Amino acid sequence: MGIIDPNFKSDFLLTQTYFFMNIHEYQAKELLKSYGVTVPAGIPAFTVEEAVKAAEELKASGATLFVTKAQIHAGGRGKGRTKKSNSKGVVLCKTVEDVKATAEALLGDTLVTIQTGEAGQKVQRLYITDGVDIEKEFYLGITLDRAKSQNVIMVSTEGGVEIEKVAEETPHLIVKEWVEPGQPLHGNQARRLAFALGLSGDAFKQAVKFITTLYAAYEKIDASIVEINPLVLTPDGNIIALDAKINFDDNASYRHKDWEELRDISEENPFEVEASKYNLNYIKLDGNVGCMVNGAGLAMATMDIIKLSGGEPANFLDVGGGANVNTVKNGFKIILSDPNVKAILINIFGGIVRCDRVANGVVEAVQDPEIAEKVSKVPVIVRLQGTNAAEAKVIIDNSGLNVISAVLLKEAAQAVTKALAS
Ligand code: ADP
Ligand code: MG
Repeated sequence: MGIIDPNFKSDFLLTQTYFFMNIHEYQAKELLKSYGVTVPAGIPAFTVEEAVKAAEELKASGATLFVTKAQIHAGGRGKGRTKKSNSKGVVLCKTVEDVKATAEALLGDTLVTIQTGEAGQKVQRLYITDGVDIEKEFYLGITLDRAKSQNVIMVSTEGGVEIEKVAEETPHLIVKEWVEPGQPLHGNQARRLAFALGLSGDAFKQAVKFITTLYAAYEKIDASIVEINPLVLTPDGNIIALDAKINFDDNASYRHKDWEELRDISEENPFEVEASKYNLNYIKLDGNVGCMVNGAGLAMATMDIIKLSGGEPANFLDVGGGANVNTVKNGFKIILSDPNVKAILINIFGGIVRCDRVANGVVEAVQDPEIAEKVSKVPVIVRLQGTNAAEAKVIIDNSGLNVISAVLLKEAAQAVTKALAS
């Protein structure tokens, strides 16, 4: 299949996760702290004045060095640069005045990192945190290993900013332990991981405790990813998280009403926000063929078909089990609001939902004035397979609309190729 979601912003492409909720570093740290994970003191700031106040507060509690960190939903900030002020996204500050100057440079500017793409991400929040002396930087990540249906805890001595490279070039430097979901991490597993980091004495003990606490937090939080990069050893032998990334497992959102408060919609793609209002699973991609599909597996297969036909998927859109007129209409509106879309491929398998009903839904949706105008310029290819597929084809063919029916996937792919060429 080979499709990795480009929106999946982890320091390390751990897995293929389509649906998740992302939060800021400072929120992740506050959450982890509440579960007993060791993080440096820090205060979020939305304005320059708040940044100065935060630094003064940290100073009053004994901080002698500060780090000012841009809060965006993407990693690579340390090596990133802002467009106007050419500032790094993570800046070591010796004085409160330095924090002020850094906050002035960062707030409102656009930070471009390896994970944001060229467009970058506007900096609207900062985190002012204690500057920590670093003896060594490690990597620690927890996620679901789908192949094993178990959680995997990964550590590496090669922590810091280049973990993607480590994963690619020297994967043996990443040591893993697996745990059955719902079960605790065993002491010997935590010790093996801490040992793999080359630690001994008190630092070893602290690392065992850190890893065990983090794993318990991962489970309680209903996270799909918790990533600490870097986890650091300080010269005085302490183990502490300098960065933290959490993605929530959206399947558990029903039992976490608190998540809504952590959401920062300004960091999310506006089309995706719109789609989530209609309960559509939509992810914006960079291609030119919009697709509307039911089921994640069919969606992935459809995206591959689009690639084989010479196009690039413009989105991932799963309309779910009940593809009715309204879901199809909303799906069309969201797909068509992307100006890159040159063709639309609807590939729906009618099992419980009958194909003739979906076909009627498509025909009705395409006649909606708002959709009709745009569809006149963007060919729509519809492949409906399953219950009443033949009736569905007749409905599409007789509609007199700019909609092309296809029975086989191959035909659908050819129709897409033709649509793109015209
Ligand atoms: P990103 O992963 O987005 O680049 P990090 O939070 O990992 O951002 O910061 C990048 C680097 O900055 C870290 O690898 C670490 O060396 C340094 N750093 C981050 N936070 C602190 C801190 N509180 N004290 C000292 N150094 C820090
Ligand atoms: Mg990091």
